[in-house]
Amino acid sequence: MKLTIVGFWGAYPEKGGATSSYLLEKDGFRCLIDCGSGALAQLPNYTDPFDLDAVIVSHYHQDHIADIGVLQYSWLVQNGIRKTEQVLPIYGHQNDQEGFERLTHNFTKGIAYDPEDTLQIGPFTITFMETDHPVTCYAMRITDGEKVIVYTADSSYKDEFNDFSKDANLLITDCNFYQGQDGSKAGHMNSEQVGTIAKSACVDKLVLSHHPHFGDRNTLVDEAKQFFDGEVILAHEGYTWEG
Ligand SMILES: [Zn+2]
Ligand SMILES: [Zn+2]
Repeated sequence: MKLTIVGFWGAYPEKGGATSSYLLEKDGFRCLIDCGSGALAQLPNYTDPFDLDAVIVSHYHQDHIADIGVLQYSWLVQNGIRKTEQVLPIYGHQNDQEGFERLTHNFTKGIAYDPEDTLQIGPFTITFMETDHPVTCYAMRITDGEKVIVYTADSSYKDEFNDFSKDANLLITDCNFYQGQDGSKAGHMNSEQVGTIAKSACVDKLVLSHHPHFGDRNTLVDEAKQFFDGEVILAHEGYTWEG
């Protein structure tokens, strides 16, 4: 499977960028994970948004769902132009009923996932773990039967991430704070915490995402490397992982 970073900023996008959004592909099946602000402007660099087969959202904070609305408009307009009636499934949890209902539009259909259960979307099998965040949010462990990607979504540190991320080939983490800073009130992790998780879970590769808007972000990599011997990548637009 192939993962492409569409957006990686926390809270709001910097110039020309996007907040949380990741494109997951295998055998021509395309699933967008989260759809933050700016995602629709970035997505055409990698795929036609109308070629998406599914979308899944971790939670209903704006930096993860802001562009769901314009994605729905793009499907409305493109169905009109192409004289088609294709419907895009958008998976979300139902702990926020209002947020969940906004996933459904003329040509998108909200589908509730049960976080206690395994979810199959095309070739991807997904299991969930509730994170520690001001609103209900789910981390995802995704496999195509061969490799494993874990996405922490938004969360402050939880010991449970060590098991949940065990032996993942790729671990994409919330890394919204620098070493020594406490992100727990905001529901986010720092570079030391994510490096520690990567080490105890023995992952192959760590990607630091959900970036802060202050400080020298390259420092995050050096800090995480103090705790994790494997490869550490600072998320950037267009970064792709294939395995
Ligand atoms: Zn966020
Ligand atoms: Zn959030």
